[in-house]
Amino acid sequence: MRGVVFAGERQIELMDFPDPAPGPGEVVLEMKASGMCGSDLGPYRAPKGGSSSALGLGAAAGPVVAGHEPCGVVAAIGAGVEPRQARIGDRVMVHHYKGCGLCPHCRTGWTQMCDSGSTVYGMTGHGGHAALMKVPASTLVPLPESLSFTTGAAISCGTGTAYGALRRIDLSGNDTIVIFGQGPVGLSATQLARAMGARVLALDPSPERRARACAFGAFASLDPRGNDTIQAIRDLTHGRGVDLALDASGTPEGRSGAVRSARKWGTVCFVGEGGNVTIDVSPEMLRKQLTIVASWTFSTVGQAECARFIAERGIAVDDLFTDRWSLDQAAEAYRLFDRQTAGKGVFLM
Ligand SMILES: [Zn+2]
Ligand SMILES: [Zn+2]
Repeated sequence: MRGVVFAGERQIELMDFPDPAPGPGEVVLEMKASGMCGSDLGPYRAPKGGSSSALGLGAAAGPVVAGHEPCGVVAAIGAGVEPRQARIGDRVMVHHYKGCGLCPHCRTGWTQMCDSGSTVYGMTGHGGHAALMKVPASTLVPLPESLSFTTGAAISCGTGTAYGALRRIDLSGNDTIVIFGQGPVGLSATQLARAMGARVLALDPSPERRARACAFGAFASLDPRGNDTIQAIRDLTHGRGVDLALDASGTPEGRSGAVRSARKWGTVCFVGEGGNVTIDVSPEMLRKQLTIVASWTFSTVGQAECARFIAERGIAVDDLFTDRWSLDQAAEAYRLFDRQTAGKGVFLM
């Protein structure tokens, strides 16, 4: 089979890999949809040879198939996999990490935090941008019947990450939330926060992305590069600042803006990957009794809960996707995504 590989320096290679066969406890999926996530841009933009280690999640020995939002059907089952774990034809998402299975983090479904280190599919282990993908049966999360494979792909990282963050900060219909960055994670957060009843204020430098956020229910949108963005946010919240602020931009400016726009006793959540931030601690945190939370993806249980939430409310997650690609078009797909003005892309097999 052919798989999409990040070769570094914004190069994509379609490489040949042997078709995987399931070992004990494993299954092979026939991929149906494999999403493009903002965190792909780290390995995509990395120097030659640095792609698998770009996010500080370990490194791979050789080239790996990209794609950490895998969704498909079970096509082959290895020894020792029970029917209640997987049957041929099951529609499934993958929780895209493998840990030791025994430490407290693995036992509670947070295998990405495994004490022995984890494999991250699409980064340090073969991911979903190929016809087939081999994973332990324990990584499978059922895809509800009413959800499409593309929605399942989104839930497998970007949308699931947005859901996990909103749950971490206990968002409710009482809240006004500002969301810095309206890429796939930020836009999902806008859509889900609306479904949870909150007022959403969306920020992004791209006018296309701001327009999409408003179409998804944001009551206002702002360009964060403006001189008085924080004052504009205060003006939209009767001078108080927002109850909750989420940074999905991964930029120092977005994080700082999130901290400064939160009200007294407010909560800030950092979701965007990489880089740093400078905070003037006394005025920006202490005097406001601020809470800052970091949120990294979700557990296997959280992924299933996110899928259920979306299925029960009929949320149009597929509207996130502006581009549907074949694997042959991977170079063009990532070139467009790299500009960070489009919506979400997905490979269909
Ligand atoms: Zn573990
Ligand atoms: Zn991701």
